[in-house]
Amino acid sequence: STGIYWFRRDLRLADNPGLARALAMHEAVFFVYLDEQTQAPYDASRAWLSRSLQALAADIAARGGVLNVLTGRAEALLPRLAAALGAEAVHVSTLHEPDADARDARLAKTLLHEGVRLLRNGGRVLTDADRLRSKSETVYRVFTPFYKAALGTWRHVAVEAPTHLSAVQLPEGEDWPTTEVRSPRPAWDLGFWQHSTPGERAAHLRLEAFLGEVDGYVEARDYPGQDATSRLSAHLHFGEISPGRVLAQTRAIGSAGADKFLAEIGWREFAYYVLYHWPQSTSCNFNPRFDSLQWREDPEGLSAWAQGRTGVPLVDAGMRQLWHEGRMHNRVRMVVASWLTKHMGIHWQEGAKWFMHTLVDADLANNTLGWQWVAGTGVDAAPYFRIFNPVSQSQKFDPSGEYLRRWLPELAALDNRSIHAPWMSGVSVRGYPAKPIVDLQTGRQDALDRFARTAR
Ligand code: FAD
Repeated sequence: STGIYWFRRDLRLADNPGLARALAMHEAVFFVYLDEQTQAPYDASRAWLSRSLQALAADIAARGGVLNVLTGRAEALLPRLAAALGAEAVHVSTLHEPDADARDARLAKTLLHEGVRLLRNGGRVLTDADRLRSKSETVYRVFTPFYKAALGTWRHVAVEAPTHLSAVQLPEGEDWPTTEVRSPRPAWDLGFWQHSTPGERAAHLRLEAFLGEVDGYVEARDYPGQDATSRLSAHLHFGEISPGRVLAQTRAIGSAGADKFLAEIGWREFAYYVLYHWPQSTSCNFNPRFDSLQWREDPEGLSAWAQGRTGVPLVDAGMRQLWHEGRMHNRVRMVVASWLTKHMGIHWQEGAKWFMHTLVDADLANNTLGWQWVAGTGVDAAPYFRIFNPVSQSQKFDPSGEYLRRWLPELAALDNRSIHAPWMSGVSVRGYPAKPIVDLQTGRQDALDRFARTAR
């Protein structure tokens, strides 16, 4: 028989249960990626996707197979493809995003009308969000108890990458919308590839290299200048490596650093769990109590933030790293998000939207959780009155100004004391704002007042 394997965010051959199932069920499997244009052409993650698909196509070709990339909606293309190939099933990995999963359910019905089954498989997350509940049968709302309960349920069943694939070509006699997901022109993405290489092989190498130094992670992970984290997020987002593989290799080490790293993988699981149980959290405050919060309309402030021109060095350094590299250190993500939502009073959804365009690891679940957590709109135990002070964060986590100097060359000549807040030392630098766009004390107090007004 013939089957279709529809690659989505599982761009890998190893540890891919859906792919293994398809190969076991059918003599011939047609491999396809559908470019449904869900990301804008200027999105950073689309640039990653194009390289990731090139890597996957090469890995498939090396085994004798062929990856077909078509443009268009699955609803239109899959029934046509299945009919032309005489395929009896379409296999996928579940995305675990409520809208996408609901769409799969509709698609399954459409295909069934044509006598074709849509077979959905796991592999993207480790937690069974539907089943995992507390002893009192309630859904977890706070990370730590969630993590304690979830950790014991996580399993990894290793699946070897296939060694041989059959080359099922597009059926002839029809006009198929074949395409390539191209790298951006002009190549505005070059800065992304100095530290990262998309693709399954690169993801495995990255994990191994990182685990070799995981013992330093507990301390070093918070220092943006050290860049001591795994840099696996985009690999995980596009499914170039499975969380199960990450789990198994990390568990095998068994050290404090490995445990800490596993807890971060736990945050990714928590984000998917929260999204499953609160699908509306992508566009609404997690806790409706904050719906009456007054956000400020400030398009100019928003673009100063996005362009790294707020006059707060750590915020500006982070936003410039994001623009140039398509990534930002986690500590700095928290600081820039806090600055936008608290000091500047701009809605977390504005920040979340900018991140979705500019991050190579842009991920609906992780990004929503990150923004709602920092904004203090009710997710986890993060209180709204925790407001990051971007100057003390900078002094504490980038004491020698290494990170600041990397991204703000105009401040590079300042000494270690004044670089974190030039205006406080009375230093003025040409080409850099003389003082922050919002006064630190006033912005903090305004935020506390606005949030306190929502208190019941
Ligand atoms: P490591 O420290 O090596 O962590 C390992 C893995 O654990 C990461 O690759 C990631 O998959 C997961 N992880 C780590 N921290 C978190 C977290 N706080 N929440 C969920 N998963 C986590 N991460 C994304 O992948 N996509 C996003 O769009 C995203 N948006 C964010 C927005 C904000 C405002 C904040 C505060 C955080 C966001 N994060 C997001 C989480 C985190 O910043 C990144 O996952 C991390 O910086 C990626 O670097 P790394 O792979 O080196 O992390």
